[in-house]
Amino acid sequence: MTETKLREEMAALGASLFNRGFASGSGGNLSVRLPDGCILATPTNSSLGRLVPDRLSKLSPDGVLLSGDLPSKESSFHLALYAAKPECGAVVHLHSAYAVALSCCLDLDEENVIRPFTPYYVMKVAPLPLLPYFKPGSPEIAATLAEKAHTAHCFLLANHGPVVTGRSLEESVNIAEELEETAKLFFLLRGAGCAVRYLNDAQLRELTLPANGRSR
Ligand code: ZN
Repeated sequence: MTETKLREEMAALGASLFNRGFASGSGGNLSVRLPDGCILATPTNSSLGRLVPDRLSKLSPDGVLLSGDLPSKESSFHLALYAAKPECGAVVHLHSAYAVALSCCLDLDEENVIRPFTPYYVMKVAPLPLLPYFKPGSPEIAATLAEKAHTAHCFLLANHGPVVTGRSLEESVNIAEELEETAKLFFLLRGAGCAVRYLNDAQLRELTLPANGRSR
């Protein structure tokens, strides 16, 4: 896809996320790797609902602003993920309500925050490691994500929110939405007080076998 198309796609997907409540205010940020190897990121203090394609921040792979508005201070961890994951084509970071609520819970499994109860979580998201809390924009977030990059393609920052990587922006957005919906179901099930039928080992094996045609 050309840079022009990618700029338009970022604005369109940002508006789609915002209009359906996956982002609010100026929370969350998106980025995509361009055909020339540079990174296109959402500007600081911008609303995902009102992105202007020509004003998106274009960054060199080491973070030098080449054109557009100043990038989000969280773009540092996007850059760290691109450097650590050559296959990564886009990063989506949201402050979506249910995933943030989950990130504030005590006693989570740090290797995989949600024990699988739907096949979609297994195919699209899992595992979902929990990363420690650091002040937003701090270099420790980038360093920790780079260190854990090889273990998963989705991450949950404690008391902050989800970070999703994918091959394209559309794929990363779809995965981020699946993660948010799974977090919502987690709380619905907890609130209902019913015993949960988790997927068993055979069902998990069937979903994670490469020959099964899983999408990731
Ligand atoms: Zn954030």
